[in-house]
Amino acid sequence: MVAVLPEPKIDAMKKATYIFVLFCTGHMVLAQEPAKKWYKGNIHTHTRNSDGNTSIDSVINWYVSQKFDFMSITDHNKLSYDETLASKYNSEEKFLLIPGVEVTDRFEKTPVHLNGIGVSENVLPLSGTSVDNVIAGNLADISQKNGLGILNHPNGILKAAITSEQISRIKNLKFFEVCCADFKGGSFKPSTDEIWDRVLSKGKILYGVAADDAHNFRPYSKDPGSAWIMVNAEKLEQKKIIEAMEKGDFYATTGVIIRNYSIADHKIQIEIESNGYGFRTYFIGQNGKVLSVDESDNPTFKMKKKHKYVRCRIERSDGAYAWLQPNFY
Ligand SMILES: [Zn+2]
Ligand SMILES: [Zn+2]
Repeated sequence: MVAVLPEPKIDAMKKATYIFVLFCTGHMVLAQEPAKKWYKGNIHTHTRNSDGNTSIDSVINWYVSQKFDFMSITDHNKLSYDETLASKYNSEEKFLLIPGVEVTDRFEKTPVHLNGIGVSENVLPLSGTSVDNVIAGNLADISQKNGLGILNHPNGILKAAITSEQISRIKNLKFFEVCCADFKGGSFKPSTDEIWDRVLSKGKILYGVAADDAHNFRPYSKDPGSAWIMVNAEKLEQKKIIEAMEKGDFYATTGVIIRNYSIADHKIQIEIESNGYGFRTYFIGQNGKVLSVDESDNPTFKMKKKHKYVRCRIERSDGAYAWLQPNFY
């Protein structure tokens, strides 16, 4: 039998594996990529170590009790993480603490807060000569300390007003908070969705995260657990979670859960966990244009070259959202 490699395109590594499997077994078996799982994580939380009102242990226990798979405590300019804490809570495929810090800086009246996720040591604010300079300098420092850098709450919260122009100019910025707690907009300012589309329309890759930025864990507080990310990774390990985020293999949510997500031959296919809710999925492209609206719980969209990029924003009938990462054609 003559083996014919399947279309669509298969990269060189996979092709080599494919041929190897074929050679060894004589069967037409395409070597599978490692199985991945969705992991629920919060990557922006405060404790009494900065301006939160709850102890580190109580905060961690709250996320464990809410079935989060991983979390980062991100106190202001303080690393609330050490090996003792990690060994107390980390449990294989059950729970993972990832070191984190919210580098809390400003330029004149503009607060500039950046999360460093996975950092190997504390990161202190460097200040700078402009908003761009403060963001870029702190991001470089986070990266040097092995962290993934995220621009937090770019509008509204704390009267921060970091613009799409500024974000577009900063080469080493790849992540921003599209949703911080349930805050998605900002009075008299472009919403985070608008900021996102303006940046993406310039051809810059920017991934959106959601987090609860919880400070208050008293029973009446609505913040803890109000927004999070779901990461599609091979294992519940810091390296794998960060790698998956770097590749954009995650989505941001305030409650909408995706069962399956795939893109093949430029066709996006999503399977939403319905649980009896209604959905509206917006497929959004260049300049924030809505290209299609799908009201099923299996929305699909075929990308064309002229769309340049497509991202999805899903709205659930109870007001919950999900934001999927952009795909460039
Ligand atoms: Zn902040
Ligand atoms: Zn914060």
